[in-house]
Amino acid sequence: MRVVVVGAGPTGLFTAMALARRGHGVTVVDRDAGPQPDGSWPRRGVMQFHHPHAFRAQVVEALQAELPEVWGDLLAAGAQPMTPPAGPNGSGGPVQVMGIRCRRLTFERVLRAAAEREPGMAVRVGHVDDVCTGHGRTTGVRVDGIPFDADLVVAASGRAGRLGRDLRAPARGGDCGIAYVSRQYRLNPDAVPGPMNSPLGQIDLYPGYQAIVFPHDDGIFSAVITRSSDDGALTALRSTEVFEAAARAIPALADWTDPARARPYTPVLPGGRLLNTFQGQLDGDGAVALPGLVFVGDSVCTTNPVVGRGVTTSLLQAGELLRLVEEHPHDLAAATLAFDGWCTDNIAPWYHDHVAWDADLGRRWAGGDVDLGRPLPSDLIVAATAADPSLFPLVVPYLGMRALPDSLDAVQPRAREIYAGGWRPPVPDGPTRDELAELVGARAAAGRS
Ligand SMILES: Cc1cc2nc3c(=O)[nH]c(=O)nc-3n(C[C@H](O)[C@H](O)[C@H](O)COP(=O)(O)OP(=O)(O)OC[C@H]3O[C@@H](n4cnc5c(N)ncnc54)[C@H](O)[C@@H]3O)c2cc1C
Repeated sequence: MRVVVVGAGPTGLFTAMALARRGHGVTVVDRDAGPQPDGSWPRRGVMQFHHPHAFRAQVVEALQAELPEVWGDLLAAGAQPMTPPAGPNGSGGPVQVMGIRCRRLTFERVLRAAAEREPGMAVRVGHVDDVCTGHGRTTGVRVDGIPFDADLVVAASGRAGRLGRDLRAPARGGDCGIAYVSRQYRLNPDAVPGPMNSPLGQIDLYPGYQAIVFPHDDGIFSAVITRSSDDGALTALRSTEVFEAAARAIPALADWTDPARARPYTPVLPGGRLLNTFQGQLDGDGAVALPGLVFVGDSVCTTNPVVGRGVTTSLLQAGELLRLVEEHPHDLAAATLAFDGWCTDNIAPWYHDHVAWDADLGRRWAGGDVDLGRPLPSDLIVAATAADPSLFPLVVPYLGMRALPDSLDAVQPRAREIYAGGWRPPVPDGPTRDELAELVGARAAAGRS
């Protein structure tokens, strides 16, 4: 089969290489020219490219299953496997990899280099203008005005991609109500990393904002502050002096970014809009939008990145799509319909989880208390395990994305009891939201005078 994959992000490259290894002739087209000769890679169409990424176990498993040498290449490029803390008697059994710590830049550079070496496929630079149709199905795409024939078009064009968007029933969701600002730092030679309270890094939730450190490869880590998009008093965090002052005031960030430990490696990076969206494969009448065209990755689902689920949901989709294309080689509409059903059952729940979680977090960040008049969002259910550790094993499959969010329903009643009894999640040391807003306002004013 002749396949064109639109988008050379993680989803497009992974899917393209796996299809090429199944004997298809694959061309990947992306408007991005790839890494520059000096190694830099601005990647303008992907705003999150230099923001922190953590890659979960499912990403490792997808690579090991389909592209095992890429996993080796990533390790050789400095990616750090996340492993659980050693048990009291040392390990013994095989080490379980819970994910990888590396920059998105490192991840994609390795994947793209492998794709460019892959026999049976080509990576082309160009803008895909639209999808070509004939006899009620796709016949390929138009790249910079020139038709390019294909039997299957895989649209892995990301959250910002417009290709074929209007063929489908409109996306559900939109802005998640939370804004991001981050900066990368590099550990000084011989400096040891700072504290971590999660396999992803250090995550501290305050009433009104959140501070996170994501360690990456090569001694580089990102410090992140998230806030409600409505919280105008914290907008100035995107200025360097203000971000640095906030990082000095928030204990975990201060610890990691102490000049005795680390130096800034990038400018302060304001995040664009963060989305919770889901858009299926079907048109407004419930039929496959265009036989031979299938959407995958962020062009199906994008979620608030705060717990790093996007590449996982993308590669899980890619894995299922590969299986269905193999199962229905002569009926791509059937494969697409089955894929849509699978995404509705297995991917949309993560979208719904974030919608409920983020809306409630925004409400609490605006001063609201835990609301027992409605189901608890998943972050509060997970937090309740601090009050009753016997619940923790029940939330672990959800935390690792091994069980869907409705697996938390079993914990909901006990969590509600805990909150009804007056317990609230402990707040880490550090400035309150009002103290942070005051500091931000003062530093911003000092910068203007
Ligand atoms: C701030 C932020 C932080 C994140 N952190 C994490 C994290 O820690 N862990 C995690 O797993 N996920 C994270 N994510 C999500 C993750 O970045 C996405 O899930 C991932 O980028 C999806 O990959 P993709 O290949 O589907 O799309 P993209 O990476 O967006 O790639 C799409 C590609 O398509 C190309 N393209 C689009 N339209 C066209 C066209 N018409 N012609 C040619 N080329 C086109 C673009 O140039 C781009 O290269 C984060 C997201 C954000 C916003």
